[in-house]
Amino acid sequence: MTYNKKSIEDVEIKAGQKVFVRCDFNVPMKDGVITSDKRIVGALPTIRYLMDKGAKVILSSHMGKPHAVFTPNFKLDKKEQKKVDALPEAERAAATAELLEKAKKNDPKKFTLAPVADRLNQDLGGKVVFATDIIGDDAKAKIAAMKNGTCVLLENVRFDARETKNDPAFAKALADLAGEGGLFVNDAFGTAHRAHASTAGIADYLPAVCGYLIQKEISIMGKALADPARPFVAILGGAKVSDKIGVINNLIDKVDMLIIGGGMAYTFFRAIGSSIGTSICEEDKLELALGLIEKAKKNKVDFLLPVDNIIGREYKEDTTYMRMYSDSIPDGWMGLDIGEKTQELFAKSIEGAGTVVWNGPMGVSEWENFAGGTRAVAKAVAESGAVSIIGGGDSAAAVEQLGYADKMTHISTGGGASLEFLEGLELPGIACLMDKE
Ligand code: AMP
Repeated sequence: MTYNKKSIEDVEIKAGQKVFVRCDFNVPMKDGVITSDKRIVGALPTIRYLMDKGAKVILSSHMGKPHAVFTPNFKLDKKEQKKVDALPEAERAAATAELLEKAKKNDPKKFTLAPVADRLNQDLGGKVVFATDIIGDDAKAKIAAMKNGTCVLLENVRFDARETKNDPAFAKALADLAGEGGLFVNDAFGTAHRAHASTAGIADYLPAVCGYLIQKEISIMGKALADPARPFVAILGGAKVSDKIGVINNLIDKVDMLIIGGGMAYTFFRAIGSSIGTSICEEDKLELALGLIEKAKKNKVDFLLPVDNIIGREYKEDTTYMRMYSDSIPDGWMGLDIGEKTQELFAKSIEGAGTVVWNGPMGVSEWENFAGGTRAVAKAVAESGAVSIIGGGDSAAAVEQLGYADKMTHISTGGGASLEFLEGLELPGIACLMDKE
């Protein structure tokens, strides 16, 4: 999928024009305090550009997974519903009422975007006003009172159940906040794979362009897929093959080398008949794994699996561990990281790459004893000089934690969205934007 979408620089932004910007302010919070402001800082260039043009900037985002507390008759989440269903029938109504009451009291505090407005104001000179609702009286009044070059941040858009249902009336109500002559800017790559009212539906009612963050994602990842500097190396890890089948299938037609590490490697090993002990394995994906190996062979793609592993007794942080070659993992042991020989092999293979795409850790990198493989790959990618693209999620977190973030060409801001992009799927939050002529 290559996108040729208009960005904020491709349209005229007039002073006084109302611009609805979907951001990704889904920041980690602890006890009402933002623990990483990376996403807020990342959104600033787009917001500043619009403010400098004198626009009235309406900011919107979701935060966490709240109940839709602004919706009359909102429901329990799936987990709670399951709990209630397990109770004797006579107790269910009271338990439901209690849980809903609790959500009504706690969610507006736990999932409010108010702290984000405060954080934005530190950088934007106090020009951000927070609205305590989404399309209600408070938002409307505060938008009506806006001066040019200022912002209103709306409350968590997922407090309304119509957001995730992409309800057309709700999407129109969001668009109406910008009104006649308004503009929609999507800059939330992390939710671009979701067709929600504020990410896609709204584009039915307003001209729509992308902000700087999405523009960067689609230009760098789009180029890697369409016209990569070669050799093109894909490194895939993480727990399961099933999560990455789509990506492997799409990349196997494009890359020169496919490197597989992490838990998913053991499904491949089992498929080719190696003993894997108690390593994580998807028994129902063995044929598929063989098919992918075949396809790689047919496409003349170098297909690398670990040659050695760090194996542990149990799936535990402090379990006993040792190094073992891949063809001889004993019973009662599980692979939890790639071994030293594999680190060397992978690093050497990455060395001469022109483009590297990496998604998924090489082992249980959350645990220090099994983080060595991920660290070695991060170092090799950082030092390769290749165009380096790190999918979001665990690999992005590992790269940041290990201090290699500024050595990478691009760290995607969306885990699920970048996977779907690399799978070649259409992302609704991008597809809905205007094409360049
Ligand atoms: P993913 O979200 O698919 O990228 O998977 C990331 C998760 O895979 C992390 O939580 C890792 O702990 C886990 N993982 C990586 N290697 C292994 C392994 N050998 N065994 C079990 N889990 C693993």
